[in-house]
Amino acid sequence: MKIVLATSNKGKVKEIQAMCEDHEVIPYSELIEPFEIIEDGDSFKENALIKARAVFKALGDENVVVIADDSGISVDALDGAPGIYSARHAGENADDKANLNKLVQDLKDKGVESSRAYYTAAIAIVSRDAEFCVHGWMYGDVITSPRGDGGFGYDPMFIPLGYEKTLGELESEIKKNLSHRAKALSLAKVILQTL
Ligand code: IMP
Repeated sequence: MKIVLATSNKGKVKEIQAMCEDHEVIPYSELIEPFEIIEDGDSFKENALIKARAVFKALGDENVVVIADDSGISVDALDGAPGIYSARHAGENADDKANLNKLVQDLKDKGVESSRAYYTAAIAIVSRDAEFCVHGWMYGDVITSPRGDGGFGYDPMFIPLGYEKTLGELESEIKKNLSHRAKALSLAKVILQTL
């Protein structure tokens, strides 16, 4: 079974491939020219399904299974923002660094140095016969003094519950067992076995 990943985000590709050692997972950009997918859903689930369906259709191969990850961070002190808008928190085409700096600034503007927060990952699976979507979450705190350069995105400012170091400082092996993506993927793997 060929599993194609509907993302070009290098951080996600690396993590998902490391978590799916028993399957070959190919980013869709290795098969076709990457194209813009308008993620205009109201939830992580809708956006994950939009991405997986778009790539399944573009590949035109009935025998592949496409998986897509839509994810983001929700901060209590910001009433759940940026949530589904995490990838463009600092504007359209903003990079990880700009998004992280904006989130740090948002917290400072609120007058707080830290806040409870959580990551969500929705993983959609689209095949010729069926569509599925599963979720995973990781809880912790965000801080205004980012540390470490591991992981990607908001990881240098996120401290998982029960830890003192940020995901930027912790070994990638720890995130691999703990993360929102790992939890959603463990459910996705059960579904993949049935296809
Ligand atoms: P998406 O590619 O549209 O799903 O956007 C996901 C955004 O959420 C990314 O750009 C990251 O900024 C953020 N994000 C999702 N998962 C993680 C993670 O595991 N670590 C850090 N940031 C993440």
